[in-house]
Amino acid sequence: SWGSLSDKNVYEWSSEEEEPDGRARPIQVLLVKDDHTFELDEAALSRILLSEEVRDREVVAISVAGAFRKGKSFLMDFMLRYMYNHSSENWLGDASEPLTGFSWRGGSERETTGIQIWSEVFLVDKPDGRKVAVLLMDTQGTFDSQSTLRDSATVFALSTMISSMQVYNISQNVQEDDLQHLQLFTEYGRLAMEETFLKPFQSLIFLVRDWSFPYEFPYGQEGGMKFLEKRLKISENQHEELQNVRKHIHSCFTNINCFLMPHPGLKVATNPHFDGRIKEIDGEFINNLKVLVPWILSPHNIDVKEINGSNITCRGLLEYFKAYIKIYQG
Ligand code: GDP
Ligand code: MG
Repeated sequence: SWGSLSDKNVYEWSSEEEEPDGRARPIQVLLVKDDHTFELDEAALSRILLSEEVRDREVVAISVAGAFRKGKSFLMDFMLRYMYNHSSENWLGDASEPLTGFSWRGGSERETTGIQIWSEVFLVDKPDGRKVAVLLMDTQGTFDSQSTLRDSATVFALSTMISSMQVYNISQNVQEDDLQHLQLFTEYGRLAMEETFLKPFQSLIFLVRDWSFPYEFPYGQEGGMKFLEKRLKISENQHEELQNVRKHIHSCFTNINCFLMPHPGLKVATNPHFDGRIKEIDGEFINNLKVLVPWILSPHNIDVKEINGSNITCRGLLEYFKAYIKIYQG
């Protein structure tokens, strides 16, 4: 069974990070500054990954990446609810409870490009008896101009290199430029890594938000896979560029999946006073959330991070993080 972690306080906060109630929270570990340089908060990252209970555990690192304002943090907060309440049948919790975690903290923060991780690393018992450490990463990118595209590429590349599962969050459809971005970002990552005969990255999920053609491809994973198969198909009469993007993506990831999510409803999308309570979210969205989140996070489905074929511990992940960042800092 799962360990109960919600009331544990496993971290020693530095004075500047001290929370009066010692509660877990998002920590900005990588920040892209206005002059396009990167800042890694090595101290904060070390405090989290080297905490005694997790440092020698094999690590599962789940990342969500993609453009701003597409519901990534919103989804992450539901992933947190699952991690905290998985043992209860109703892990989604009370219908009128505001959603907290990554997104609504501090109100209207300035948009930053970077990587945040949840300060609490979750210990989970896999069905095979292994106890693994689960790390949740929320990333932010802008994708809106040449200069910020490079920043976003670095953030995306790093989060893909560090994670065992990258959730590529996209809006409405899988467009050709979503694929081109993915190619650019993963190429950026691959160049920074040692060459190996293995595929450089582990699992990728195309998560399509606000999917509006369920009569063509139904919501969920099965519909998603059929849709993606069609979208990633390589055919001879395709332009060479289209073929190359597809070959590249196939060559980068060991597993590629797709999940089609319905629109969450107008309150979520447009009401500035919406606080995340479930009763104001469309039922269809909630039904699919109940499938999506355990599909990504259930003890059975999570995979340990591998680099060059070896399982990585939290301690090892910290070293890779530092090494990869150095490459981009030049
Ligand atoms: P992020 O920048 O990608 O992390 O986006 P946020 O999670 O902060 O969400 C941005 C806005 O989109 C918020 O107002 C959410 O209420 C809303 N939102 C969340 N999920 C969805 C979704 O699936 N579809 C739509 N249309 N809006 C969403
Ligand atoms: Mg966000």
